[in-house]
Amino acid sequence: MGRRKLVVGNWKMNGLRAQLGEVEAIGGVAAEHAGVEVGLCLPATLITAASAVSGAAFVGAQDCHMKDSGAHTGCLSATMLAEAGASWTIVGHSERRQDQGESDADVAAKALAAKAAGLKVILCVGESLDVRDAGDAEAIVSAQLLASLPEGAAADWLAIAYEPIWAIGTGRIPTMEAVEDMHKALRSALAGRIGEGKAGAMRILYGGSMNGDNAAELMAIEDVDGGLVGGASLTAAKFAPVIAAAR
Ligand code: PGA
Repeated sequence: MGRRKLVVGNWKMNGLRAQLGEVEAIGGVAAEHAGVEVGLCLPATLITAASAVSGAAFVGAQDCHMKDSGAHTGCLSATMLAEAGASWTIVGHSERRQDQGESDADVAAKALAAKAAGLKVILCVGESLDVRDAGDAEAIVSAQLLASLPEGAAADWLAIAYEPIWAIGTGRIPTMEAVEDMHKALRSALAGRIGEGKAGAMRILYGGSMNGDNAAELMAIEDVDGGLVGGASLTAAKFAPVIAAAR
């Protein structure tokens, strides 16, 4: 299929200048694994300083506003993040969908704003534990993906991250079979919207308690094209085995 693995750390609301040494060390690990695309989505306050030391790892943001400028106190536009040094941004992370009430339409609009500013985008989707337990996860997450998908979705600027909400930060992950089934379902939903060729080129990452112990097995699944990694990306020592597991 030829999809290059993409392994991205999501530092969430963690990271001060004292951690720039970890960014630099992760850049060094990325340089040793040139076949893997590696990045860190950092707090906006670190983007400029991190870009100067991140080496082979790209630096990204964790969110952007859907407008390019205006009266939106406290918000950051994709253009500002790009100017600061970001080349990617996450949109639609479940923590923002929950904490900030972001809708699928908001997420699609943010993705388009990011694209217009020249940023690449990781669009997150995933189900709650109730949905998983009810047995509806594939249908619900596929619908969420299609409702959040921006116009012109294509692999050269967009990747998808499947992150079961109940697996984030909990140490619990779905069975490998469940991950495989979900990624297949998402790719087939994409194919229905943008065509098989474009869907086949799109990277679909897994996220939620990915770490050095489970990354190799997760990323060996055919439709798993990398990972979005929270806790296990905060230090080079923890992130290195995840990056090494992507091949
Ligand atoms: P986690 O977070 O790896 O700490 O579970 C993943 C994420 O929320 O992107």
